[in-house]
Amino acid sequence: METIRLGAADTERAAAILREGGLLGIPTETVYGLGANGLDGTAVERIFAAKGRPQDNPLILHIPSADWLERYCADIPPAAYRLAEAFWPGPMTMILRRKPIVPDVVTAGLDTVGMRCPSHPVCRAIIQAAGVPVAAPSGNASGRPSPTNMEDMLEDMDGKIEGIVDGGPCSVGVESTIIDLTCVPPRLLRPGGVTLEDLRSVLGEVEVDPAVTRLMGPGEHPKAPGMKYRHYAPKAPVTVVKGDPARTAAYIRRHIQAGEGVVCFDEFAGDYPGHTVERLGPAADKAAQARNVFDALRAFDSTDVPAIWSQCPDEGGIGLAVSNRLNKAAGFHIITLDEA
Ligand code: AMP
Ligand code: MG
Repeated sequence: METIRLGAADTERAAAILREGGLLGIPTETVYGLGANGLDGTAVERIFAAKGRPQDNPLILHIPSADWLERYCADIPPAAYRLAEAFWPGPMTMILRRKPIVPDVVTAGLDTVGMRCPSHPVCRAIIQAAGVPVAAPSGNASGRPSPTNMEDMLEDMDGKIEGIVDGGPCSVGVESTIIDLTCVPPRLLRPGGVTLEDLRSVLGEVEVDPAVTRLMGPGEHPKAPGMKYRHYAPKAPVTVVKGDPARTAAYIRRHIQAGEGVVCFDEFAGDYPGHTVERLGPAADKAAQARNVFDALRAFDSTDVPAIWSQCPDEGGIGLAVSNRLNKAAGFHIITLDEA
């Protein structure tokens, strides 16, 4: 199949692909998504095939505004509308009870559904023109780092989808925050651009799912099914080194072997002559790190580095999301340096 490249203004052609049961690469503020008409079970099944995604890993339904929640969700708590008021349109997905109209393939048979109202203007225009909720996971092949620009998505999906829309690089760079509102207290299932601090400012108490910060043991089941899979991983194994940036940089310099790669804060990019270096952004700019993290990990796959070392921000603000993606890319292989 030839994948048609569309521009930001080709809204009608993009919407027609969705309405006709096709697969569309869609820019969002978080990452590029692989979208299909969320009410068309046959179209949604093709998402799983194109990505090689396990059938038990549900998708998110993207809607143009919070008024659409009632079409697809039951028993919506007032907290959902408070969150929508505060953070929609934006990088936050709410888990709510679903109505029967949502096809089983979207929710992987769960009785809950993930709902998000994205802010990217191109994405919003396409959903509105299509007039249907758009089911979408990230637009990478299953297991790979999520794509944050059109070229990265085409690396994985060229020839497997009907079209892709170029909306420029993603402004957030990590997938949406997922908050489960079907339990008390609400539970953070995946950190993202809407931070834990942001959620607590609206909801009060919020629990953090253990899968966010540590490896699940055998027999343990994270509530976001996607979190049990190896994820975001480049081909080479990754070791994350946590702690004060100058100390982690020095630690990596002492331990790195010939040929190995580094993901580091910009300030330390000159410290590894002869090594492949990918910059995460300035040590103090976690938003830049979120925008760069997937691209940095992806870049190593076109090299033959046998191993990758990575610096990592602290867990405040969007640092929790950056740290979560790096930890998962590393299979939670983390070295924590003690405070000096
Ligand atoms: P992706 O953005 O590519 O990671 O795909 C959507 C993510 O949302 C996956 O990690 C899913 O496990 C998660 N998700 C979608 N629906 C639900 C749900 N009903 N309950 C928990 N997690 C969900
Ligand atoms: Mg994904």
